[in-house]
Amino acid sequence: MSVPKKALLVICDGLGDRPCKELTNKTPLEAAKKPNLNALAKDGACGIMSPLGAGIRAGSDTAHLSIFGYNIKKYYLGRGPLEALGLKMQLQQGDIAFRANLATVDKKGVIIDRRAGRIDNSEPFAELLNGMEIKGIKFIIKAGTAHRLALVMRGKGLSPNISDSDPHKEGIKPLEIKPLDDSKEAAFTAKVLNEFLAKAHKILAGHKLNKERKKQGLMEANFVLTRGAGVFKRIPSFEERFRMKACCIAGAGLYKGIARFIGMDVLDVEGATGKANTNINAKISKAIEALGEYDFVFVHIKGCDVFGHDGDAKGKKEFIERIDSALKPLLKLKDVLVIITADHSTPCCMKDHSGDAVPVLLKGPSVRADDVNEFTERTCAKGYYRFNSGIELMNEILNLMNKAELVGS
Ligand code: ZN
Ligand code: ZN
Repeated sequence: MSVPKKALLVICDGLGDRPCKELTNKTPLEAAKKPNLNALAKDGACGIMSPLGAGIRAGSDTAHLSIFGYNIKKYYLGRGPLEALGLKMQLQQGDIAFRANLATVDKKGVIIDRRAGRIDNSEPFAELLNGMEIKGIKFIIKAGTAHRLALVMRGKGLSPNISDSDPHKEGIKPLEIKPLDDSKEAAFTAKVLNEFLAKAHKILAGHKLNKERKKQGLMEANFVLTRGAGVFKRIPSFEERFRMKACCIAGAGLYKGIARFIGMDVLDVEGATGKANTNINAKISKAIEALGEYDFVFVHIKGCDVFGHDGDAKGKKEFIERIDSALKPLLKLKDVLVIITADHSTPCCMKDHSGDAVPVLLKGPSVRADDVNEFTERTCAKGYYRFNSGIELMNEILNLMNKAELVGS
């Protein structure tokens, strides 16, 4: 029996679900027509996985890290650094990074829109604030899509242990940033960031860009809301740890950020949007092409999670059918370990992530095929595998590729 030299991991974000009333108590995956997923399941071995442990509700960031073999207790630094890396910001050891929004506050300072009317280009606003320095701390800002920004604080004596200014609702004032521990670093960081946000408001509120927006009847982008503070540090790369050259094919910034964080190359694919309109076929053909150069290819497909958050069971089922037809070329792959799974469940009835286990399938020459021939949450639970963490799945991938280290002698 040959051993697969290459691995292709497809993560369908938020794929797992619960029985949906509008699908006669089937899950979207059960209701979907999926001949290719079923054929892969038939040839391979199936199971279920709880990326952070049974019943734990996982975020996408933590679940992905765990599936890539990184213990989140040691390696999860918060969402901010991952988002900043997703925007190709060059982070330095000790930088504090945040997710941020351009928002609209009224004359009394009350938030009337958390997304500044979903402003379509935040770049000129980010440029106004980029490079500001307060008490020796440099503020670096980069625009993301729409109202989104990434904010980085660089300098000495900083701490990520501070609260958010984003209250996650409208009709109240932005929250004052507070230190979350007794250290002088947290107190200093909170103080400097509060000062920055006040200065930023002053600069933005009177600026001609906003006068222009007002003239056009648009919401002014006059406040920066921050959240998800995290400190950046360099960690051992995927290649250093597992001796596999790895790449990532994804549309959404967070997943590119996670990939860059662990040293994967991020490949660009036209039409990969990180949304439901993404070009799944283009991503899969790019992935197959990338297997020539890379040992480990990771493809991220976001759509199922979006439909789950919207509570749209039919939309999720149809999106799964689109994934299935795009996966057809995987049936022909030889000497490649194919892994298909999800990072967490996003049940439509919950419109949020749940702690329900996700289905997983592994197909390749070294896999002990089991009797499961349909890829669903419930049929996979009868299969060969039960992974209690993403790390266990990564261990099995290494094992099936004859790359696992011997424990003991
Ligand atoms: Zn996710
Ligand atoms: Zn989600």
